[in-house]
Amino acid sequence: MKILITAGPTREAIDPVRYISNHSSGKMGYALAEAARDLGHEVILVSGPTALARPGGVQFVPVITAREMRQAVFQHFKKANIIIKVAAVADYRPMAVARQKIKKTKNTLTLKLIKNPDILKELGKKKGEHQILVGFAAETKNPLGYAKVKLKEKNCDWIVVNNVAQKGIGFGADDNAVVLLGRHGHEQLFQKQSKSQLARSLLEIITSHL
Ligand code: C5P
Repeated sequence: MKILITAGPTREAIDPVRYISNHSSGKMGYALAEAARDLGHEVILVSGPTALARPGGVQFVPVITAREMRQAVFQHFKKANIIIKVAAVADYRPMAVARQKIKKTKNTLTLKLIKNPDILKELGKKKGEHQILVGFAAETKNPLGYAKVKLKEKNCDWIVVNNVAQKGIGFGADDNAVVLLGRHGHEQLFQKQSKSQLARSLLEIITSHL
């Protein structure tokens, strides 16, 4: 099968030297790409900027911004059987990028932000009958409640729920603990384990339901 995976954060420029981003390390997305490759699938990995080595044996598409990620995803999505959106896309970007470095002359500085496109939501509207769409949800409170809403609103087949407020898992860590929610009521807890082990289990379940 062809599996399209997005990973890492996106970066949204403020001026030539500064940007807005988040704590995503890309580890979960890269672990999924490697596990999918090892299970014999063809993998396209669209990645925001991370410190990780590019996995071998996958088609690697580097991007920086949410809009670049969107473009890369839509370039490849039609031929994908499964799309897994692990990336922590910046929800907002500065409305205007300053051409020169902003000088620290004022005591306060207000940045006006504008919403980025929601790639997952768009995919949910456009996906074909046989395409499987998997979203990730990172929340600091009520993760299951928000994820159930997301599953419906973004028309996903599966949502993987992280609680990023929990220590030792999630952002930057080598381990993760998640709940997998399926559109038909599947709900499964995965206790803390390595991201690579978790990636393999998630892929096995998702592909076995095809
Ligand atoms: O709504 P929220 O950002 O929490 O949803 C997270 C999921 O949506 C992730 O799968 C993420 O990759 C995706 N997403 C996206 N485009 C955005 C924001 C989130 O594809 N602008």
